[in-house]
Amino acid sequence: MMRNSKKTTLPTKRQAANIEHGSGKDSFFSLSPALKALKAVLAYKVFDKHTPLSVTFGTTNRCNFSCQTCAIQSSVKQEIPHDRFMSIIDEVAEAGAIRVSFTGGGEPMMRDDIGELILRAKKNGLIVGMVSNGFFIDKKLDQIRNLDLLLVSYDKSKQHKQKDIPVLDKILENAVLAKNSGIPVCLQSVLIKDTCLHIEDFFSISRQHGLALSLQSLEKWDQSAVPAEIIPSRNEMISAIEKILMEKKSNHNILNSERYFKLLAKYWPQPFHDVNCMAGVFYASVDIDGDLYSCTPLIKQVSAGNLIDQPFGSSFQKLSIPHCPGCLWSCHHELNNIFSMNISALWNLLQFSKNKLVYR
Ligand code: SF4
Ligand code: SF4
Repeated sequence: MMRNSKKTTLPTKRQAANIEHGSGKDSFFSLSPALKALKAVLAYKVFDKHTPLSVTFGTTNRCNFSCQTCAIQSSVKQEIPHDRFMSIIDEVAEAGAIRVSFTGGGEPMMRDDIGELILRAKKNGLIVGMVSNGFFIDKKLDQIRNLDLLLVSYDKSKQHKQKDIPVLDKILENAVLAKNSGIPVCLQSVLIKDTCLHIEDFFSISRQHGLALSLQSLEKWDQSAVPAEIIPSRNEMISAIEKILMEKKSNHNILNSERYFKLLAKYWPQPFHDVNCMAGVFYASVDIDGDLYSCTPLIKQVSAGNLIDQPFGSSFQKLSIPHCPGCLWSCHHELNNIFSMNISALWNLLQFSKNKLVYR
């Protein structure tokens, strides 16, 4: 990975708390980003103006695990060099983003510069999320302290042991460590067969440790890439969703909206559309190698060019609004509903505002 020769010093926890824009740690529902989003939605409705409110970065496809549900590492990609990554973050903020997320398909903490990328996004006033397998949290805590949301993948497809420590135990310990260090943490579990059959275990873990919990379906393309025996039957999925909806009534740490689960029960395993898809209008995905797409499920399909040598702002405006049969991803459905000003999706988001995300 090419690196900037000038080393950025990461702030201490106290300094991080004062990173520009007042109190530092933004919630993913606070007033200023909400007003910015509202303005962008109005500009879309009146002038058909597209604003990249939320941008997801595929950070690396290197990973210390090889999970059954993951096919992503089979295609090794050249990563965006450090200096260009830093300037892309500036361009994304300039183009109107309120939120960025560092995600896979590998483990973002495998990048040595992850702390600097997070810090750059924070300095630009962005809400910053990360999806991680959680294994390196204890080693990289100082670098990830500024995150506004850390989604820790937690499911039984991670059956490995490292130095005889069961990985899931270590991941949970690390998630609790991050939470106790002031980082809003959410466990993220894929609804594979074993998870569906033992869904109550996940509720107990969420309740016992006061951790938010996100549950989402295998995407359609995953279903062709993973062993058939880990895909739940339709009945198993529906039974798990019924239990989740019941649990959600009293366990306020379940992140996904009721609406998403009801649609999943109706359509699974088929992908579905709900409200109009806002991919390429309000959100976009930057692949590991810098290719820009309307959304993560469409990676390898219609790219708007590569950001290593093209600016983000004008490339985003070239994104086409995709026609596709839909998808199963909860995050995209939630975003579509939020940007469509769906009242129940907005209410669900409000439930997970800064003061309410976890610890109940
Ligand atoms: S931890 Fe995540 S990125 Fe790594 S192999 Fe597993 S699913 Fe893939
Ligand atoms: S519905 Fe289609 S275009 Fe929209 S996010 Fe899903 S895969 Fe992308």
